[in-house]
Amino acid sequence: MFSKKIPLHLKILAGMLIGLVFGFIMTQISWGKNFTIDWIKPFGTIFVNLLKLIAIPLIVASLLKGISDLKDISKFAKIGGRSILIYVGTTVVAITIGLLVVNIIKPGNGISQKTIDTMTATYAGNEGVTSKLMTADSQANSGPLDFIENMIPSNLFAALGNNGSMLQVIFFVIFFGIAMLLVPDERTKTIKSFFDGLNDIVLKMVDLIMLTAPFAVFALLATVVVSSESPEILMALIKYALTVTLGLGLMIGFYLTLVGLIVKRNPWWFLKQLAPAQLLAFTTSSSAATLPVTMERVEEHMGVDKEVSSFVLPVGATINMDGTSLYQAVAAVFIAQALLVDLTFGDQLVIILTALMASIGSAAVPGAGMVMLVIVLQAVGKFTPEEIAIGLTLIFAVDRPLDMLRTTINVTGDATVSLIVAKSLGKLKEPKPENWDDYTKNI
Ligand code: ASP
Repeated sequence: MFSKKIPLHLKILAGMLIGLVFGFIMTQISWGKNFTIDWIKPFGTIFVNLLKLIAIPLIVASLLKGISDLKDISKFAKIGGRSILIYVGTTVVAITIGLLVVNIIKPGNGISQKTIDTMTATYAGNEGVTSKLMTADSQANSGPLDFIENMIPSNLFAALGNNGSMLQVIFFVIFFGIAMLLVPDERTKTIKSFFDGLNDIVLKMVDLIMLTAPFAVFALLATVVVSSESPEILMALIKYALTVTLGLGLMIGFYLTLVGLIVKRNPWWFLKQLAPAQLLAFTTSSSAATLPVTMERVEEHMGVDKEVSSFVLPVGATINMDGTSLYQAVAAVFIAQALLVDLTFGDQLVIILTALMASIGSAAVPGAGMVMLVIVLQAVGKFTPEEIAIGLTLIFAVDRPLDMLRTTINVTGDATVSLIVAKSLGKLKEPKPENWDDYTKNI
């Protein structure tokens, strides 16, 4: 079944399906949940750890290679400016779509007081909810320039040692790379070829890790299924969940239109090339863990030049979260509808602005979007702290499945923008995919 001829995304899909069915069967057996947590879950965790393990070396090597190939610093400013502008543009579109669907469908209007009471009773004091409220509080107390201040590391090794400090690492590498361009070529030759080699090796590690992806997604999805809430609780929130899903679906349509009209590539080709990264984003709920695979797909399978992808993708994974911001817009208005809080047009504008900032500030890890949702709700200024806590308990049960979907959109958005930037700078080439076993004759 897992022969070489079956495309990777189909193997991953098969792993996901088997994981779903297996997880469901385990929920029907008394010892099933514990068995899955003890004996299946670790394999999913190991896979995610392996991806995270190579994320920082990959960013360092590929960004340095990208900058050193540039030859001209002004080109770098162009790539940076363009991608950040497009990132902001797509995020505003996402939030607007979110606000439109939630205001048209009004999923919160039908929520009964009984459902609100059940959710509050079930999740009040739940560790997942309280930890999110506490993290949001500590983030809300930060100053206006903290975001920039936090981007400059005071210790390189501390930054390299923390996956949450991706922007600090990117800052250092850009600084280092610019200095490298200013030093004569013959004195930087060795260090350049060191990072070129490192880059190729880490990309090969991605290929090797991806060999286990079909089995890992099986473990990850089986774990999600046995850890999920009871079907009755999920059904109470079905209208809200479908509203978010519809908004995210429209966002995919928007990306495919951009790929067709601006990048002038077949949208189905784009989806097919990106599919393994999207499926991993879905199963891991983390754009940061998916980043190595996104980079590999976009560079090798879509032909985006490293000069572009090495900057646009890591920065995008950290600051561009269209799915997250769309979800925050829908969730904020849904909570207002359910708790009978009236939101004016001005309040909805505040949601656009804060959801934009919040998605930039959200970490690329599972559940981060919900932490920043608290900050969006606080900024609207119409919710008491109790209402915010009730609001979170209300949507908590379906957060994981929605996180899986919004992370897929976040990753798709990053890939789309990298294609647009590459196309606009003439940096889109013929793809040259490499397999895990190319060059095995060397050993
Ligand atoms: N899990 C999302 C990501 O990694 C962030 C979020 O929306 O919670 O992109």
